[in-house]
Amino acid sequence: MNKNYIFIDRDDTLIIDKEYLSDPAGVEFPKGSIAGLKRLRDAGYGIILITNQSGIGRGYFTEDDLAAVHRRLKELLANEGLELAAIYYCPHAPDANCDCRKPKTGMLKAACKDFDIDLKNTAMFGDGKADIQLAKNFGITAIQITNGKKGPLPDADFVAETLDDAVVWFLQQHP
Ligand SMILES: [Mg+2]
Ligand SMILES: [Zn+2]
Repeated sequence: MNKNYIFIDRDDTLIIDKEYLSDPAGVEFPKGSIAGLKRLRDAGYGIILITNQSGIGRGYFTEDDLAAVHRRLKELLANEGLELAAIYYCPHAPDANCDCRKPKTGMLKAACKDFDIDLKNTAMFGDGKADIQLAKNFGITAIQITNGKKGPLPDADFVAETLDDAVVWFLQQHP
């Protein structure tokens, strides 16, 4: 049986945005994040992280710093019985004109090569315009999580305050 997968943004979606986070001790989950991930896990979904990390291209931190942050993230998730199927990140600065920086679709294309993903049964969960536009560019459902910080984006298919609320809606659409 094929496993299902969803795509999720990192900063201000899965974890609290600390702006160019390079300290593993700064990894913190917003309200509803862990609950939403557990709900997805229990419904049989693998979780694929899709994140722009231009702090590397801008020289603010290194790939090793990012790896340390992601090790901490995975450790905290493991404590909750959670895991990520994969992490894709774009390390490039905006002016590098790469194919992977959201809202470009390079990371989703790479994930689709690595995993058998049913595009009718997935969604991009994110807080930013680039996440919503990425979903539109790839032809998948766009779900915005505001965490009470941002107003609704017009192109989002659904807007929720927390990841948990977003996942409840998504699972209703995919019974
Ligand atoms: Mg974000
Ligand atoms: Zn890139």
